[in-house]
Amino acid sequence: MTAPTPSKLAYVPFVSVDNMMKLIWRTGIEETLKELAGYVEDDFRRWELFDKTPRVASHSAEGVIELMPTSDGEVYGFKYVNGHPSNTKTGLQTVTAFGLLADVASGYPVLLSEMTVLTALRTAATSAMVAKHLAPKGAKTLALIGNGAQSEFQALAMKAIVGIEHIRLYDIDAAATDKAMRNLANKGVTLTACKTPEEAIEGAHIITTCTADKQYATILTDNMVGAGVHINAIGGDCPGKTELHKDILTRSDVFVEYPPQTRIEGDIQQMPEDFPVTEMWEVINGTAKGRTDDRQITLFDGVGFAIEDFSALRYVKDKLQGTDLYEELDMLADPDDPRDLFGMVQRAK
Ligand code: NAD
Repeated sequence: MTAPTPSKLAYVPFVSVDNMMKLIWRTGIEETLKELAGYVEDDFRRWELFDKTPRVASHSAEGVIELMPTSDGEVYGFKYVNGHPSNTKTGLQTVTAFGLLADVASGYPVLLSEMTVLTALRTAATSAMVAKHLAPKGAKTLALIGNGAQSEFQALAMKAIVGIEHIRLYDIDAAATDKAMRNLANKGVTLTACKTPEEAIEGAHIITTCTADKQYATILTDNMVGAGVHINAIGGDCPGKTELHKDILTRSDVFVEYPPQTRIEGDIQQMPEDFPVTEMWEVINGTAKGRTDDRQITLFDGVGFAIEDFSALRYVKDKLQGTDLYEELDMLADPDDPRDLFGMVQRAK
């Protein structure tokens, strides 16, 4: 069974969580992250082609539900994703997601996929792809602050794509650090569990913050951050939810995905509207500067943008070719006469 081309579809290929995991196992997690980072980087290079809009967010006291659409003119995609920091207290995940690709010419859906696992992969692949461009040369040590669902993916992407060899972990909940230490054991990196964020960032070349808390949190204060580091701040990703003290933002060169979304959701929501930022796609295609000196603090204020989900779905669709890792979803009505939908319903009685 091979994944059909859009024009011949009578069904929608659906990738379940089970099949997504099989896809990763067959490829290998680090190889998956590397391949996926390549897709994300390719789409950053053709950034100007895409329809772009800040995501459509529905906020509540507990969290947020978001739709993230984009199109490159040939393919349309969107992701449904939630962010509920207190969910883990009741055994639910903070982030769950699914997504869809459609053929722009016909409007027909061509792929439906789980995206809870895929979001963790694409976020990690994006973080590491950005770090490859911005982190100090020869970066070997990563401080990983926040050891929840995203953390191991972040760690392995930094290993596979940037060459990280040592990881220093910290979480306010020691059980989360224990879990991440177990999951990252024997993965070719040395691990140090730390008791404070200050201890975690000792000697780190890259600092990743991936904490979840619906408040203006201060995971890093200004005096903790030394010259020359790269900060990968991905946990502050909605209004009222930040991770960094604003003085760090003032001292850093800040790189973002899509400013109209990041100014609402990112750590820079604390700053004036004209606070200077560099768009990452311009660094990648060479029209803007990335790191220019050893003492510079580079900061990726990553909130997650629709184009990264589009890249991830595009990657999955390509990887499905020649596999049986999807189900045929009866999601297209497909009447014999396209205008006789009613007749089809009548005949089904
Ligand atoms: P999670 O709930 O599984 O893990 C979050 C961890 O942060 C928990 O272990 C918690 O104990 C820890 N934490 C909370 N406050 C802390 C603090 N002050 N210091 C240290 N640790 C602290 O969540 P997750 O799925 O790993 O996601 C983490 C964050 O990343 C969420 O806010 C989520 O919305 C965000 N996220 C961003 C992107 C993106 O593209 N930027 C993508 C996915 C998730």
